[in-house]
Amino acid sequence: MNGKATGDGDRQGNRIIPGINARLTALRSDLFSVSDYSADKLAEIIRDVGFACDCCTKCCTKEFNDHVFLLDNDTAVIKGIATEALVPAPYFELCDQNGQFYDSGYALRTLPDGSCFFLGGTRCRIYNSRLSICRIYPYMLHREPDDDGIVDWRQVSGLNKHGSYHNEIPVIECLAIAQETKEFEIAFLEQTIRFYEFLCGYFADNRLRHVRKVYDDRMRAFRKGEEIEVAVLYNGRLEPWRMRGDGAVPGNGTL
Ligand code: SF4
Ligand code: SF4
Repeated sequence: MNGKATGDGDRQGNRIIPGINARLTALRSDLFSVSDYSADKLAEIIRDVGFACDCCTKCCTKEFNDHVFLLDNDTAVIKGIATEALVPAPYFELCDQNGQFYDSGYALRTLPDGSCFFLGGTRCRIYNSRLSICRIYPYMLHREPDDDGIVDWRQVSGLNKHGSYHNEIPVIECLAIAQETKEFEIAFLEQTIRFYEFLCGYFADNRLRHVRKVYDDRMRAFRKGEEIEVAVLYNGRLEPWRMRGDGAVPGNGTL
């Protein structure tokens, strides 16, 4: 990959960084598709499925959910409750030629037993300030491959693996859930797009480039116990972190 910045702009006026721009194009296309998806159609699916939660709390553990990704407004809530609950979200998007990783947001810390930082017994300790993704779960609006590799829209996570089905849900409630689910997916895509747009400018200004081989080498070293540095974009600023094994601590200074 040629990581040299061209200095040219795309139609949105962003500087083009090879390797990042293809991702931005795909994200903008996803954003168009999700925005265009009919909330009425999603509400009908929600009504047909008739899901009801049985409060098993599996979705608050790694058994069901790899991580709880936070939109920036969720991160603001957690910063006001317990900053120690924040960690850089896994699967960092980019790594520059110097081995510095870049991440589009935070996730909630998981405790050693695999449960969410905020799970207390069978209850969410911050239920009244519930985070965006916790509010909409198990609803979603993603295009994903199924077990046979066929890519299509998925609207319910873990279908038939939790809760109960074919319950009566009032139409007005289905519509409200559909609207909230769409809003979450749009906000998630917008946050990821903002991240890549920011990084286009940051990489160009600092003569950096994303290098896949460095990314893979540093991840291998991380898995063997070496420390890595991760910068999380939050509210237009990169916040530095140091990570080793399951540990993640805020770094010093600013990037
Ligand atoms: S914040 Fe609460 S609802 Fe969300 S995963 Fe954690 S315990 Fe569950
Ligand atoms: S949403 Fe599903 S996994 Fe989560 S508590 Fe309810 S039934 Fe259990």
